Amino acid sequence: MIKGALARPHPAPEKPLLHQPARFMSTHINVLDMARQQLATAAKYLDLDEGLHQVLAHPIRQLVVHFPVVMDNGEVQVFQGQRVQHNSSRGPTKGGIRYHPDVDLDETTALAMWMTWKCAVVNIPYGGAKGSVKVDTKMLSKRELEKLTRRFISDIGIIVGERSDIPAPDVGTNAQTMAWIMDTISMQKGYTVPGVVTGKPIELGGSEGRVEATGRGVVVSAGEACNSLGMSLAGAQVVVQGFGNVGSVAAELIENEGATVIAVSDAQGGIYNPKGLPVKELCKKYAGREGGIREFKDAEKLSNADLLELKCDILIPAALSAQITGDNAKKIKAKLIVEGANGPCTPEADQYLSDKGVMIVPDVLANAGGVVVSYFEWVQDLQNFFWAEEEVNQKLTRIMKHSFAAVENTMRSHKTDMRTAAYIIGVKRVADATIRRGIYP
Ligand code: GLU
Repeated sequence: MIKGALARPHPAPEKPLLHQPARFMSTHINVLDMARQQLATAAKYLDLDEGLHQVLAHPIRQLVVHFPVVMDNGEVQVFQGQRVQHNSSRGPTKGGIRYHPDVDLDETTALAMWMTWKCAVVNIPYGGAKGSVKVDTKMLSKRELEKLTRRFISDIGIIVGERSDIPAPDVGTNAQTMAWIMDTISMQKGYTVPGVVTGKPIELGGSEGRVEATGRGVVVSAGEACNSLGMSLAGAQVVVQGFGNVGSVAAELIENEGATVIAVSDAQGGIYNPKGLPVKELCKKYAGREGGIREFKDAEKLSNADLLELKCDILIPAALSAQITGDNAKKIKAKLIVEGANGPCTPEADQYLSDKGVMIVPDVLANAGGVVVSYFEWVQDLQNFFWAEEEVNQKLTRIMKHSFAAVENTMRSHKTDMRTAAYIIGVKRVADATIRRGIYP
């Protein structure tokens, strides 16, 4: 079967690799330019040496792989994937693996760079990395997805390791993906290596609280931001873009705090009810299913673009990057934006919204809960000693609150916006580590 498939010059077109279903707005903004612009802003505040600025503006390593997978019908399809390590001055590189049809090397590099600042802002001993495969997982069977995962991790395995670079889930991947990664690397080593990947199922050395960690951190950040703005989280009207792991957990936890979630969306589009949506029911019965949350009847349907412009107190973009741009920033009515996604606001939007007095809790702070609990998982795996969920959540909340306060203080002392303040802290920590270590040789 494999022989026959390999003999065929072209893959069958029934499952086109580049098929693109409806999804979040796709823009032509180069997010790597965006990430570099954000770094340049912080570099000015820090009066960063130009050579050092250049070190930080570039990834230390980019590995692009093209790998074959024998599909269920016997045909071979070739996929492109990449792993980018941005900086390792403060420790092993850390960051998720994304499966999405729109990924490319530049975006993955930007995401790796954001991981570096994120780990530094919350002061955990990691550098940043990101991996991705250009694939629409909806077009694959579970078996195909497993084979793709095992082959991809084998091909990038030369730069991945529990002491060098530790992947985790991101858009399009989950605990099962991490289990396959852990098993593949363990099979190749000849012994079980739980610390090589985080976000694993609990029974394989995953941490209690990891699944909810990013959403939990977003809600802690939202609470701290409300305190700072003199707003109350209880009674606040909340809009959430994206109903994957981050958006759905954030929606559920913010509802537990007494807020009303009036609109949510997934890749197919959004639903809106000014009286509030039953978040738990949406999570249980609609999320991740064929028709998605739009199957829920008691709500008005709207597009992802319109959802962002709804009147609300708190907007949580928890989908993809570059959703709030120079084009739609003027129509945003939220008082507070908490970035569950990586890079949802472009620098142009940032500028306009912060001039208008909208507080934006930046991704490198707001969504850092995921990697914080990934760090806890890694520590538990290395020690083979596991913590109770309560302990995980307490430690996570403490780090999030402490980091929020540090960023807020920096924002006030430098009279700048929150993103620049977070960058001032994060970039400085990475720059200081680089200077202390010196440039080898
Ligand atoms: N993919 C997540 C992020 O963007 C988590 C990364 C990790 O836990 O290593 O923060």
